[in-house]
Amino acid sequence: MTEQAALDGPALLAEASDLLPDIVDLRRRIHAEPEIGLDLPKTQEKILASLADLDLEIVTGKETSMVVATLRGASEGPTLLLRGDMDALPMPEDTGLPFASDYPGVMHACGHDAHVAMLAGAAHLLAARRDELKGNVKFFFQPGEEGYHGAEFAIKEGLLESPKVDGAFALHIAPNMTSGELATKPGPMLAAADEIAIRVVGSGGHASMPHIAVDPVPVACEIVLALQSHITRTVDVFVPAVLTIASIHGGTAYNVIPEDVNLLGTLRTVSAESRESLHDSLERVAQGVAAAHNCTVEVTIKKGYPPTINDPEFTAMAVSVLSETIGETHLMDAPIMAAEDWSYILQKVPGCMASIGVCPPGVSPDAAPACHSNHMILDEEAMAVGIASHAAMALSYLS
Ligand SMILES: [Zn+2]
Ligand SMILES: [Zn+2]
Repeated sequence: MTEQAALDGPALLAEASDLLPDIVDLRRRIHAEPEIGLDLPKTQEKILASLADLDLEIVTGKETSMVVATLRGASEGPTLLLRGDMDALPMPEDTGLPFASDYPGVMHACGHDAHVAMLAGAAHLLAARRDELKGNVKFFFQPGEEGYHGAEFAIKEGLLESPKVDGAFALHIAPNMTSGELATKPGPMLAAADEIAIRVVGSGGHASMPHIAVDPVPVACEIVLALQSHITRTVDVFVPAVLTIASIHGGTAYNVIPEDVNLLGTLRTVSAESRESLHDSLERVAQGVAAAHNCTVEVTIKKGYPPTINDPEFTAMAVSVLSETIGETHLMDAPIMAAEDWSYILQKVPGCMASIGVCPPGVSPDAAPACHSNHMILDEEAMAVGIASHAAMALSYLS
């Protein structure tokens, strides 16, 4: 990786800082008009307008509002995908910012407004340096990250073809990291998140005569505890898995034994193997406990995003490029147990995701409201680091 030393980090950061006023303005306009899901026409319009004066090949989604903009370099070479997700969350905003959401109940609380803006900034920076690129950069503006499987739609619509994508890099903001710092890790970076629904069925009756009924309430409680014991006794502590039963519903009155009790929860795992084996064994434990008490059980597991697995070689290259040109790039100790649909891209193409610190000034990173908080605020100055990081990755990968 010695060639990377030739990249002039301070120059990239200076170019990114020059772009910052426009990029901050773009981010604020997207922040004020947040959209949810796969259909994001206003966000798409702003992206297209910001790229309009650049010489890019632009494709928009058929089923979604994605924008894929390809920058062809001066000569032939591989293609690097850079991604910024576009969607907001169905939640109120309570930041009090002058550019806070105009739409009640919708907020850019995961920083995807900043992701779009940083990627647009990188498109401007790299378009001005087209002569240095031996290959292509695909700027992928992606709708529907927050549970809508937007990346899967994009792959189906040919995101990874013509030109074929060889490597992939994404940034996610982190309000709980010092502004401007970067972090990533090889291997699992984020978890798979699956939804679990368990219906425990007994036989209803009078609360005074449980021996005539089959009471599902204590059985449901026993299942919750048995599942937790099962996780702690069967999962390797170095391959983490988290099960949370977050909802228990049963019964209608203080003196009626209900027919059934419904449990809802989420299972998070960082390997495909532990994910599959826990799907089987959680069902087996629930069945076994229910059978012991003459109840039946219906277990439904709805698969969410797969684990986000950073390619070790690509990640080592990214850490070397970013730390040599941009600045401090930490190796994370452990994965984050949230999930990301960037995982779909990394199943197909070697690449990685990195976190970029955006803790606002005057706040300690531990105390800053996290992503998905109704109070989440980010340091917009850090977006220059994000722009320069995307650009450094492309200039190095295509050198
Ligand atoms: Zn999110
Ligand atoms: Zn996010």
